[in-house]
Amino acid sequence: MPNYGMHRRKSRLPVSRMLCQKDPSLHLTSMDYYFYNTDARSIEGPPRPRFRILIDRGFAAVGGDRRRFGEQLHQLKQDDILLMYEDKVGVVAVGRVRERWDGKSHTNPWYYTPVEMRDFTGGACEYHIKVEWFPDLSGNPITLKVLRQRFGSAGFMPRGTVKKIVKYRAEIEEMVEELRPTPLPTRAAIDLSAPAPERVETTTYRILRDTAKALYIKDLHEYQCQICGHTIELPDGKRYAEAHHIQPLGGPHNGPDVIGNILCVCPNHHAELDYGVSAITVSALRSSRGHAVDPEYVEYHNRFIYNSKDE
Ligand SMILES: [Zn+2]
Repeated sequence: MPNYGMHRRKSRLPVSRMLCQKDPSLHLTSMDYYFYNTDARSIEGPPRPRFRILIDRGFAAVGGDRRRFGEQLHQLKQDDILLMYEDKVGVVAVGRVRERWDGKSHTNPWYYTPVEMRDFTGGACEYHIKVEWFPDLSGNPITLKVLRQRFGSAGFMPRGTVKKIVKYRAEIEEMVEELRPTPLPTRAAIDLSAPAPERVETTTYRILRDTAKALYIKDLHEYQCQICGHTIELPDGKRYAEAHHIQPLGGPHNGPDVIGNILCVCPNHHAELDYGVSAITVSALRSSRGHAVDPEYVEYHNRFIYNSKDE
């Protein structure tokens, strides 16, 4: 029997395993879409525009009066989608809210300069919320003109700092779908124990949680499973594979989103890894130039995820 880099063990479903794609809060809420306006009017110092800071560091920021501005972040839930709008440029990134606002007032700015903050009405405070910006459209933004053409409204203009999208919500959702670098089919049977309505939410989450790095790794391996080499050819000629974070993202594992922690795998092997059915042997993985799997995360998988019966 060929060695695929996995030692198969008899399946024993773990009771307390945290699946990397599961998020319990997801089942309680559905996501909303918002415009998030970068605060071009308040930004004086270079570099302009400054939204790159937000994309690279994974957050959204507002500044000034806490009640007028900071508390706008209160309305955002985990998994809500933000369309970042830079004045005179357009939508420069789309992002997924990572967690609820922490409610903290920061006097050390990440986004504004101290001088800009000094002039804010209501106090020199900045407020942050974690956002995973995907995709980064800063090189090819969706201009206001395009938005207006597409949605056919003369009054179509993002206003306010954080503004929920109600009008054209379905159209915006569709647009965001199109922006994903690689369209993926839905994965219906993601959790066999979950009732049907929850599956829908889980599927949505799964699509959106594919990070830029995960897409990069899948591209690098040409959508071939690093364990068995299998790829799924879709009717439209595209290919399908999944990205697995070896040390899962989120609690309790808190693995990082770095390429050394990501594998490109087929759905079967993804499920086996999630459920701890198999150990990983680095040397047996299919490799690709530019992608080094970090043994540290493999070690984590083999120690804490792999559900060995004999050890
Ligand atoms: Zn496979």
